[in-house]
Amino acid sequence: MALVGDAAYCASPAAGMGGSLAIIGAAALADAFQKHRGNAELAFQDYNESFRPYIERVQADAVNNLDVLNPKPKEAPPRRLASQLDCST
Ligand SMILES: Cc1cc2nc3c(=O)[nH]c(=O)nc-3n(C[C@H](O)[C@H](O)[C@H](O)COP(=O)(O)OP(=O)(O)OC[C@H]3O[C@@H](n4cnc5c(N)ncnc54)[C@H](O)[C@@H]3O)c2cc1C
Repeated sequence: MALVGDAAYCASPAAGMGGSLAIIGAAALADAFQKHRGNAELAFQDYNESFRPYIERVQADAVNNLDVLNPKPKEAPPRRLASQLDCST
């Protein structure tokens, strides 16, 4: 059995590529079947070996993207203390 798309290699939302990967993966699997003339065992092996490195790169990039999408503040934001607010009026 071979899986494609999110079921096979769900990338983080930070990758922004899940839809693209599902399409590219389906094409890679179809190409492998064509290359190996329908031999499922060889096609699955080829698909795994040729496509996995690309997926692993995308998943690693997604982890790096997290810092860009969700930057850590350089210093803690000032806390709004009730005592700093003039609530008397
Ligand atoms: C909020 C959000 C924003 C996104 N933005 C982007 C983006 O900008 N760019 C991008 O490339 N990707 C984006 N993605 C990711 C993208 O939507 C997915 O990676 C992509 O849809 C995966 O395709 P898929 O065919 O593998 O799975 P899905 O699209 O999840 O398709 C699976 C299908 O199987 C059906 N199903 C489930 N169980 C069964 C069952 N037992 N029997 C029959 N059918 C079943 C489901 O109903 C569904 O229709 C986003 C995802 C989300 C949630």
